[in-house]
Amino acid sequence: MNIAYVAEGIGLKKAGGEYKGPCPCCGGNDRFHIKTGRSGNMMVYCRYLCSYASIMRNLEDRGLIEKEEFERKGPTASQRALIAQDRLVMALYEADRKVKPDPSLADFRRYRLAQERYNAMSPVG
Ligand SMILES: [Zn+2]
Repeated sequence: MNIAYVAEGIGLKKAGGEYKGPCPCCGGNDRFHIKTGRSGNMMVYCRYLCSYASIMRNLEDRGLIEKEEFERKGPTASQRALIAQDRLVMALYEADRKVKPDPSLADFRRYRLAQERYNAMSPVG
């Protein structure tokens, strides 16, 4: 996945190690970020909490990324790593909630992002 190509296609500007600008789903000016994750995957983040699935579908519709043949082949190694990572983020957040009932907005957003992506990526059933 060519992140610079995706960034150019939706008008993001390079800022340090990431690209930021308008969200392809909900617009704005600087609410959206993409960057390369540790396993070479693309991390997407919208401050207005657009879901991972809707962002990826939008990028597919624009022809900027290839549609993943998820159902047919099952998760790839990097997708499996993301699923495991999201599951851990959710478990930690839920454990934290028990001792700290009022989580920070940043923690909550991280949890929601993990949850959205997990729901979008993990195989049904
Ligand atoms: Zn958005």
